[in-house]
Amino acid sequence: MFTPLTFAQLQQYAHRSSTVTQPCTCMSRSFAGWEGLPVSLKESQLKEVGSLIAAEEEDLTLDEYHPSGTSYWSVDAPIAAQFFPYNRCRLWVCVVCNRAYLRYAEAGAYHIEQRIRSLDPALLVDVAFEGVGRA
Ligand SMILES: [Zn+2]
Repeated sequence: MFTPLTFAQLQQYAHRSSTVTQPCTCMSRSFAGWEGLPVSLKESQLKEVGSLIAAEEEDLTLDEYHPSGTSYWSVDAPIAAQFFPYNRCRLWVCVVCNRAYLRYAEAGAYHIEQRIRSLDPALLVDVAFEGVGRA
C-alpha cells in the first residue's frame, strides 16, 4: 500500500521537472495532455517515485475536474490529484533528465492502454474530492 503523495510533494516534483532544459529521449512528444505511452519510451528509463492512489476505495471517483470547460484530453486541463484520472496515477521520473510524469492504465473495451502526461506545475490544483454523501 502506498501513501498518496501530498500536494506539496507533487509541487516539488513538478517544479523540479519544469526546470529541466536538457533534451532527452523521454521527450519524444510534449505529453502536455494525456497520450498513449509510446513504445519508444523504455520502461527502464522511468522510475516510479510515488502514487496518487487513495487508500480508501470510496475516494476513487470517476468524476473529472474541469471548472474552466476543459476536457480529459485538454493540454490545459487541471491536474487535480483526487479526481479522475489522476487518482489512478503513479508518479514517475525519468532517470536520465529528472522530468516527472503521471501514468495510469486506462481500461478500454478490448485492451488496457498505458497513458502518460507530464506533471506541469502550472496545472496543479489543490482541490479535495468531497466524496459521495459527505458534507
Ligand atoms: Zn528524460
